[in-house]
Amino acid sequence: MTLSLYNTLGRKVEEFKPLNANKVGFYGCGPTVYNYAHIGNLRAYVTHDILVRILRRLNFDVTHVMNVTDVGHLSGDNDTGDDKMLKSAEERGKSVLEVADFYTKAFFNDTERLMIARPNVICKATEHIGEMISLIKRIEANGYTYLSGGNLYFDIAKFKSYGELANLRLDELKAGARTEVDGFKRNPGDFVLWFTKSKFENQALQWDSPWGRGYPGWHIECSAMSIKYLGEQFDIHSGGIDHIQIHHTNEIAQSEAATNKHPWVKYWVHNEFLVLDRGKMSKSTGSFITLQNLIDAGYDPLDYRYFLLGGHYRSQLQFSFESLDGAKNARKSLLNILKALYDKAGKPAADSLRGGATGKAAEYIEVFETALGDNLNTPRALSSLWTLIKDNGIPARGIIAAVFDMDTVLGLNLEKILSAADQTSVDENKKAGIEALVLRRTEAKKAKDFKTADDIRDELKQKGVILEDTPKGTIWKLI
Ligand code: AMP
Ligand code: ZN
Repeated sequence: MTLSLYNTLGRKVEEFKPLNANKVGFYGCGPTVYNYAHIGNLRAYVTHDILVRILRRLNFDVTHVMNVTDVGHLSGDNDTGDDKMLKSAEERGKSVLEVADFYTKAFFNDTERLMIARPNVICKATEHIGEMISLIKRIEANGYTYLSGGNLYFDIAKFKSYGELANLRLDELKAGARTEVDGFKRNPGDFVLWFTKSKFENQALQWDSPWGRGYPGWHIECSAMSIKYLGEQFDIHSGGIDHIQIHHTNEIAQSEAATNKHPWVKYWVHNEFLVLDRGKMSKSTGSFITLQNLIDAGYDPLDYRYFLLGGHYRSQLQFSFESLDGAKNARKSLLNILKALYDKAGKPAADSLRGGATGKAAEYIEVFETALGDNLNTPRALSSLWTLIKDNGIPARGIIAAVFDMDTVLGLNLEKILSAADQTSVDENKKAGIEALVLRRTEAKKAKDFKTADDIRDELKQKGVILEDTPKGTIWKLI
């Protein structure tokens, strides 16, 4: 199996070749923790997860780093608008750190429910201010900054390849400047590295720095933390497509201006958006759907994961409850078919099946891997899973071996669900047995056969079941 990835830097599909032997450094932009993640954000993290799982399948030693933004992110990525953390804390009557802590926990609860493997390093911006200051000093020493109105800015005109990732042209940037422009900037595309003066006089979190007491701009955290944990050049960086133009463009400028090394990151992977039929989902306006909303509406988090796998990460994906129903039903049928095969194969543990997919089953794995290796084509990978499980020329054990193997990438938790289904059927059987006895007792009582009725009550008690006779009938409970 080989892996090709669409690299936003250069805009073409390239074969993945790590910088160092079998080690892969991967940085995915994490959440800004001022609110719950919405299901669109979660698409980004499922995409990261699939990529990491494929890299691990290829036996790469992956270090996955994810930041948690708890300071410095304004609602406009170009230093305009409200401070997201501050605004949320004020609205909720909490401190910024309380808000950050609450939504960080909520975020990792969501990712766990979606079977997203926990990154090797999770780093909070507020715990890396020292690293940010050191990096800014290097950028300053190399001549890429200016102080204006109390803030330290990055001067994009000094960085010759500025905008390469997004194919931006400096003259177009000037012409297309947004309406709200910070008057201290020389060029509308310049961005803040360190704020000491801003419109937020009540900025909750501030630190001392060579440029005065203040706080970092948003972009610098990702440069500082990725370099700290992955080195001055690393393999893959990802995020949603909204980050190409500003955030990632600025991250590249800062990192390369500090280190003088090009390219800072070899492969840039960006996921397309999840959109609602009624338009864009926005975390800052509050008009969005969370994973918990889906759970409350009766869906399993894995229905949503399955739904996401049904779309290619580079295509926009339209969310609707009808299409989520489609995913839910498909996952249900998948589990039903697999349950029958799993029982037929003697309920084997995944560990006992390693290397068990031979012959035709192994061919399906190859098709599956080719699909994933082709720029993470999860829809095609899923369809190879479906043809496999319907192929009655393969023994059940071989199918299950291949399916469990595929699930190391798909992350649908199949082994756990299938073995737990056994547990449920035991419970269902037990329940049916209790109800049959309760019915026999009711009939015995009707026939005034109190001896039998009492014997049944005792028998149930020995099984840990107590009975209560009510005007509406007999209710049973487990002790
Ligand atoms: P944020 O917490 O706003 O910084 O966003 C977290 C991640 O979600 C980033 O990688 C964004 O690019 C990504 N993202 C935001 N909205 C969507 C969406 N509707 N669909 C897919 N990814 C998104
Ligand atoms: Zn970032």
